[in-house]
Amino acid sequence: MNQTEKIITQTEKFGAHNYHPLPIVISEAEGVFVKDPEGREYMDMLSAYSAVNQGHRHPKIIEALKRQADKITLTSRAFHNDQLGFFYEKVAQLTGKDMVLPMNTGAEAVETAVKAARRWAYEVKQIPGDAEIIVCEGNFHGRTMTAVSMSTEAEYQRGFGPLLPGIKTIPYGDLEALKGAITENTAAFIVEPIQGEAGILIPYEGFLKDAQDVCKEQNVLLVSDEIQSGLGRSGKWFASDWDNVTPDMYILGKALGGGVFPISCVAANHDILSVFNPGSHGSTFGGNPLACAVSVASLEVLEEEKLPERSLELGTYFMNRLKEIDNPMIKEVRGRGLFIGVELTEAARPYCEALKEKGLLCKETHETVIRFAPPLVITKEELDWAFERIEQVLGVS
Ligand code: PLP
Repeated sequence: MNQTEKIITQTEKFGAHNYHPLPIVISEAEGVFVKDPEGREYMDMLSAYSAVNQGHRHPKIIEALKRQADKITLTSRAFHNDQLGFFYEKVAQLTGKDMVLPMNTGAEAVETAVKAARRWAYEVKQIPGDAEIIVCEGNFHGRTMTAVSMSTEAEYQRGFGPLLPGIKTIPYGDLEALKGAITENTAAFIVEPIQGEAGILIPYEGFLKDAQDVCKEQNVLLVSDEIQSGLGRSGKWFASDWDNVTPDMYILGKALGGGVFPISCVAANHDILSVFNPGSHGSTFGGNPLACAVSVASLEVLEEEKLPERSLELGTYFMNRLKEIDNPMIKEVRGRGLFIGVELTEAARPYCEALKEKGLLCKETHETVIRFAPPLVITKEELDWAFERIEQVLGVS
């Protein structure tokens, strides 16, 4: 047994089987490349579901982690720490919002958004009944009970009930359905501007703007889950920018911690986030100084290296190349920036396995879609290298 086999055996033996990973162990990484214990190198075309937009172990982010680890890592929120304010200010400046609430994982930030929206509905909007949240079919907002209650995937919910009440589902990108779903008790419409887990689905151009108009008119909060699509992934800072929309609330995570340390947050204006008072919400690790220092560095890397712009330019280039591949088995190539889905007419996993054999790591999503989402620091030459291999695998029918 080699190291890879030993590690996989150990992992499968003692771990809960809630994932089905490709049979590869990653033990080292730098930039867009990762290595297995036998020293084989692979290009990472998944970026930990867009948490590693800045590339693996970006030197500036690792430096911030080490510097902060030598000072203080956790205070809890019982005391102030000297990094949280910088994090707040940076996120406020980037989102244009005046308040930020930090958590750790994406799903926790989604929980936070739902709690904020519900309390806002009772206390500010003053709805007469129980608060309602509108979500879209095919959404992915995480794995907590609230997030799975919002899901339309049977397997995400099977055996976990009773689910959270007060959730209404509409087809993704269906404005008329949104209008029809709103009642006097609606608190928020929570939407991914691009649905990542559903297979890089993009609604019609202008949908988010139209949805914003409807929400404004009806006094409903528009909440944009940019955990995966935000922070440069789609070729703009936020995927909402494609429709020139500033939502009432942003939900951020993943690349907010540069793939180095988990941190998530919601950002909104005072009229919404001030519904939280001491005692109403929190997290032991939320806003810890280590995460904050890492996050500020991670956001600075996105800015300094113009990664959203890079994602747009290289994503457009790469998508056009992918569209050149002539194979009737390819149903559609779609995406924005370096957030690209190739939908096949058949199961995508065997192709992901074949790509792995050629040194390229990607993962199928929703059975028939291969997601290409490399770290945004990737170069054009590296994309050409990837394309050659993809063409070898997908180009033959
Ligand atoms: N929301 C979206 C849009 C996501 O893509 C994800 C993760 O893939 C989440 C929420 C959940 O984030 P986490 O896995 O950090 O809880």
